Amino acid sequence: MGRIQILPDELANKIAAGEVVERPASVVKELLENSIDAGATELRIEVEAGGRRLIRVADNGSGLLRDDALLAFERHATSKIRQTRDLFAIKTLGFRGEALPSIASVSRLTLDTQSVEEPVGSHVEIAGGKILLYEEAALPPGTTVTVRDLFFNVPARRKFLRSEQTELAHIASLVTHYSLAHPDKSFELEHNHNQLLQVTPVATLRERVYQVFGARLLEELVEIEGVRRELPAEADEAIASSFIELKGFISRPQFQKTNRNSIFLFVNQRLIRDKLLMHALSAAYQNLMPPHAFPFALLFLRCGAEEVDVNVHPSKTEIRFRRASFVHDFVKDALSEALSRSRPASTLPLRDRPQPAAELPYSEFSQALENQRFQDAPAPETALSPEQLAELPEFVLKPHQSPAPRLAFGDAAIDLAPSGSDAGFQREQHSINPAPLRLRAPDTHGSFPQEAILDAPASMEALKDLRPLGQLQDSFLIAASRDGLWIIDQHVAHERILFEKVLRQRLHGKVEMQNLLLPLILELTPGQMVQYERIREELLASGFDTETFGLRTVAVKSAPATIRPSDTERLLQDILEIAEGDLRQVSLEDLQRGIAASIACRAAIKINTKLEPAKIDYLIRELAQTEYPMSCPHGRPVALRYSIRDILRGFHRI
Ligand code: ADP
Ligand code: MG
Repeated sequence: MGRIQILPDELANKIAAGEVVERPASVVKELLENSIDAGATELRIEVEAGGRRLIRVADNGSGLLRDDALLAFERHATSKIRQTRDLFAIKTLGFRGEALPSIASVSRLTLDTQSVEEPVGSHVEIAGGKILLYEEAALPPGTTVTVRDLFFNVPARRKFLRSEQTELAHIASLVTHYSLAHPDKSFELEHNHNQLLQVTPVATLRERVYQVFGARLLEELVEIEGVRRELPAEADEAIASSFIELKGFISRPQFQKTNRNSIFLFVNQRLIRDKLLMHALSAAYQNLMPPHAFPFALLFLRCGAEEVDVNVHPSKTEIRFRRASFVHDFVKDALSEALSRSRPASTLPLRDRPQPAAELPYSEFSQALENQRFQDAPAPETALSPEQLAELPEFVLKPHQSPAPRLAFGDAAIDLAPSGSDAGFQREQHSINPAPLRLRAPDTHGSFPQEAILDAPASMEALKDLRPLGQLQDSFLIAASRDGLWIIDQHVAHERILFEKVLRQRLHGKVEMQNLLLPLILELTPGQMVQYERIREELLASGFDTETFGLRTVAVKSAPATIRPSDTERLLQDILEIAEGDLRQVSLEDLQRGIAASIACRAAIKINTKLEPAKIDYLIRELAQTEYPMSCPHGRPVALRYSIRDILRGFHRI
């Protein structure tokens, strides 16, 4: 007899479970996907002890036929595909027929299900893969799967589970994001009998985002509204022409996260992790954010089922695009376009306005999680280490974190006198002259407000007809447009202008340079010397003509034209630091961007610098010409805006 044996099903299922059921959240994912595939519109998820003790998913979907209730626990038993051909056009979330047997092999599972087509349903109990009980039961239509004591028979796996809070955070994030993918369905999540999330069906994704995250986050987001492109037919591969469509939300560049946990990508409603899309996303934020910051993104890509291969990994979170580079460029372009079209300003909160009640779900959600943390006994293992924290979806744990730097305005006085005039500093808030804004008090017939103006989003166009009014604290430019009052950070604005200019010059050849009267002699450390040798060519192309002069001495003969000679040394130190630090592994492109950003930062007009009206004019005009006028290369906002609506609200006129 040979030595090879076919493994018994029970063992095969446990092996499959190793891949499919990594942690409690994976169980929730598989069960939710089954409910969604079954056409459910109401999904209720109950969890105890972070999912270790209990996970229950109840739906009002099609239910299982009696004959299927046991079959569903066989390996490779599925109702979703029948033949090989189906594998190439999968329209359901599940298709492998692995989830139920896998989960059942590592837990105590109960299935209660009732199909609308039959008078009675089924009740099934399984523990560690062994069927303990099957009986008929009359139930309401739909399916409830209860999973108790996950990994009770796989101690090694149980040991790998993280604290209750960590596992719960994964579950909460998962449910939240499935709820975002299905605004038309209701979702409810309960942990230890406390409600964490409850959303009712709504018509649009925007409304769902509002339900889940509240108005604050929504303000930081740019919406991508169904950008669609035809994919050409490919004769040789026999792929018919099809389409690709992108919609969703991405954050403005000033909203930055330290990790990828706020990036959620869906392809054909399936939550996935994908390097290609991730790359397209970061490419769209290039020049808008520092290399190690990440945006918030909630993106839904829709395409013909034959365009993606979802059969790549047992947990179905990875996919392969058949026309990868086309998809990459399409996504990148759609996102870049949305970012450059987006409002080039953060809106100023007038003062802390009372929050509308409708914003509660988000804070309730986070509050509930917060409470849980305190309730669940402060056992040492429930405390989150910094590494664990970093691993978690940020919005779950730190929802109150202020998303973007904002200018504290408070009672600060505004000097709106044209710069140059000596009208001075007025200690009053009423110094905004309403006349140029052409505001009228609402008349008794209610012909005001003019909605068109009120709702016009500040756009690039608005930036073009900005009318400079003056300078505030020698640091901020004040300007008016049809749609509001603008406050522009003069340093950051100039930085953006110079950054794009230097980068453009670099890409078309050389950066404009000036000869130094006397060469600047730099003493470098051995480490800096290595970097210097490495980036010497790039330095020359960026405007620094240099020469080694002894072992660790460098003579600088010219510098970029925009730089004051006195800044040259510090600038070179900055650049060597970039080369030495983060960007060591990074492309030449990143180095060029880093250099351009350093030059821009050193050369830009500083704050606390009084500017002539002509200079203010020039800055505003140049800013309007830039490609991304809304943030500096490091993602700081360039301008803040009071919309007409904010102003009217502030004066209680609406
Ligand atoms: P897959 O989803 O890959 O088909 P599963 O093991 O997850 O495999 O489920 C097996 C089958 O059980 C499904 O194909 C489906 O027919 C049925 N099923 C599972 N969950 C539900 C549910 N909530 N409602 C209706 N049918 C379900
Ligand atoms: Mg499934």
